[in-house]
Amino acid sequence: MNSGTVPGDRPDASLGAPHIIAVALDTPLRRLFDYRAPPGCEPHALEPGRRVWVPFGRRRLLGVIVERRASSEVDPGKLRSALEILDPEPAFDPVLLELLRWSADYYHHPLGEVLMTALPGALRKGAALAAEEILWQLTETGRSKALQALPQRATRLRAAVEFLGAAGPSTAEAVLGQAGADGATLRKLLEKGYVERRRSAPAPEAVSPAAVRGGPPLNDAQRAVVDTLRKALGTFGCWLVQGVTGSGKTEVYLNVIAAALARGEQALVLVPEIGLTPQLIARFAERCAAPMAILHSGLSDGERLAAWRSARCGAARIVIGTRSAVFVPLARPGIIVVDEEHDTSYKQQDGFRYSARDLAIARAQRHGIPVVLGSATPSLESLARAQRQSGTLLRLPQRAAAARPPRLELVDLRKHADTQGIATPVMLAMQRHLDADGQVLLFLNRRGYAPVLFCPSCGWSARCPRCDAHLTVHRGSRGLLCHHCATQQPLHEHCPSCSAAVKPVGQGTERIEETIARLFPKAPYARIDRDSMRRKGELEATLRRIAAGDIRILIGTQMLTKGHHFPNVTLVVVLNADQGLFSTDFRASERLAQTIVQVAGRAGRAERPGEVLIQTEYPQHPLLVRLLQGGYEAFAAGALEERRESHWPPFARIALLRAEATAPAIAMQFLQAALHEGRRLAVPDVQLLGPAPAPMERRAGRHRAQLLLHAPAHGALRRLLAALVPVLETLPLAKRVRWSLDVDPQEMF
Ligand code: ADP
Ligand code: ZN
Ligand code: ZN
Repeated sequence: MNSGTVPGDRPDASLGAPHIIAVALDTPLRRLFDYRAPPGCEPHALEPGRRVWVPFGRRRLLGVIVERRASSEVDPGKLRSALEILDPEPAFDPVLLELLRWSADYYHHPLGEVLMTALPGALRKGAALAAEEILWQLTETGRSKALQALPQRATRLRAAVEFLGAAGPSTAEAVLGQAGADGATLRKLLEKGYVERRRSAPAPEAVSPAAVRGGPPLNDAQRAVVDTLRKALGTFGCWLVQGVTGSGKTEVYLNVIAAALARGEQALVLVPEIGLTPQLIARFAERCAAPMAILHSGLSDGERLAAWRSARCGAARIVIGTRSAVFVPLARPGIIVVDEEHDTSYKQQDGFRYSARDLAIARAQRHGIPVVLGSATPSLESLARAQRQSGTLLRLPQRAAAARPPRLELVDLRKHADTQGIATPVMLAMQRHLDADGQVLLFLNRRGYAPVLFCPSCGWSARCPRCDAHLTVHRGSRGLLCHHCATQQPLHEHCPSCSAAVKPVGQGTERIEETIARLFPKAPYARIDRDSMRRKGELEATLRRIAAGDIRILIGTQMLTKGHHFPNVTLVVVLNADQGLFSTDFRASERLAQTIVQVAGRAGRAERPGEVLIQTEYPQHPLLVRLLQGGYEAFAAGALEERRESHWPPFARIALLRAEATAPAIAMQFLQAALHEGRRLAVPDVQLLGPAPAPMERRAGRHRAQLLLHAPAHGALRRLLAALVPVLETLPLAKRVRWSLDVDPQEMF
């Protein structure tokens, strides 16, 4: 039916046959697209990892070459030619490309979307891979003959030759500035064959071993950890540094990084979304003479591209970034550090749901370099891994410097009177610490004024029309606000159903702020949460006022607890420990313990001893008891045992298939069909549990459901998903729902 060659039919397809490239494109389709090589393209330019422009329907898309093929299954008459190969080299080196292919496979996510996640926005739009300069230099002829051959009156030409002879390869700007020779001069020399141009990446600077300077002398525990990790450079190993807050983990990272830099290598440091604080950057900058690149979500496209390029060409010796920095190319990778490895922000919660911590391990393995996971409260996954590989758990059991560990105590909310959520013993303790010139930190993981607006007369409460949730009462113009879908309603004083006066029930940070102002009128306070810190620079300004001692009482959410140092805080109060005690999510207790220990860790970091009070209605709860008696380690040991007995991760592997639809029941029906298909595939050892409505069944007007897949090991789960996912795409109901797959989910909703 059509003519044209069929490359694969030829005995030697590489001889003269059009080369075919399999290209990954940014589409949700789980497949590669075959193209002919662009006309006149050198075969070596078809390397995997290169970016390429291709025609797609009537559009032009940017893709990445994944494979070179001798033949295609596509009808040769329909095979289109790619338009243009970008860049003189691949965007992804073979190791990174392999990691990304493996990730797409592991998370069952379309490779094109995975590769695009790994590229900065500017590169997805076609910007050049490397920041390049055009350098001018003398040719052999130019060096030996130009000055004899050029007439004396050609002063500009001679000046340019003399300059290039003395200075070596230079930019046109330099030649113009130093020798007064403009572009026309250089072109004339080019025509005569005296000079030539070359493209060049800015050369990386050499870094001396003293690239990390200053810092306190390490204590014995730190020294031991640093020695172990230094010896580990150059080989893969996954190390867990478990060090209580303030034990000097950052000091350890800095010293090990120094050793990697001295070997001529680069260091990649991953930090949680909220942990990339100006404080952390300042600390690295102050201590490291080596050039750094910072990557986070707040960068402009241009800034991000510049940071990415300097990591790739090796100019940046230390690369600090949040989640997606795990994909940054490195010219000479030497070590990866994942700080606060337990933090949930390492898991992407939509689209390509990868875990940057897990990919950091996979990446380090491929590079043959160590990866260091650090935390005061390691995830149970990482603890279990460290227990399996003996010798990889490195402890820093004590606080560095003089700081002593804080004392933890429970305050029984059932026994003590309280003023708007602050129990009397807590009030007294606050007064005591303020009198002794300490600062006080109040932690409450609930923003807004009150979580519920309630009518005491008829029992009505304000609910979100689009979610199965209460509207949160906010002060000021924001009125009633849904924290799940951002629906907003004006605040009213009277019940819409019986006209009685309504009242806010429970406490959020805004209400605590109001209470504090009343109880401690003389103590300046600051509230730190997403609502109060919206403006750029506001958080930094507030942190400065806290450091200067202008603020005595700090009220805040998680935002306050991560990555910040408050040396003068002597009292920390956890206002409500009970939110995580009775959750349906099997990870809730782990999160709660981590939060309590992390918040407590803010107290007494300097010379002053700290005190931590935890308000609860359940002082006998085993989680709290264990945590108070034996610290995080005791909690973790118990929690791991429970997970083992109940076959939850890390002693099993799970994936969550989620679906949502605007009409009720559709999501459940889709998952029923998925269940049916999954059962038919009958992969041994994999259990399919559900489907069940999501814990919050309706959210933002959509009905949600989920199906849990559970297996003793990843292999079985992978086998089932590899077969099931393509089937899901063909289910008739797939068009009526939004569905997504979450491998190793961190949140069970
Ligand atoms: P972490 O990262 O474990 O919370 P940091 O590295 O931030 O701990 O150290 C906590 C504080 O202790 C910092 O102020 C740091 O400068 C100080 N510190 C760390 N190591 C030492 C040491 N060996 N001697 C004295 N002070 C130290
Ligand atoms: Zn009412
Ligand atoms: Zn809502």
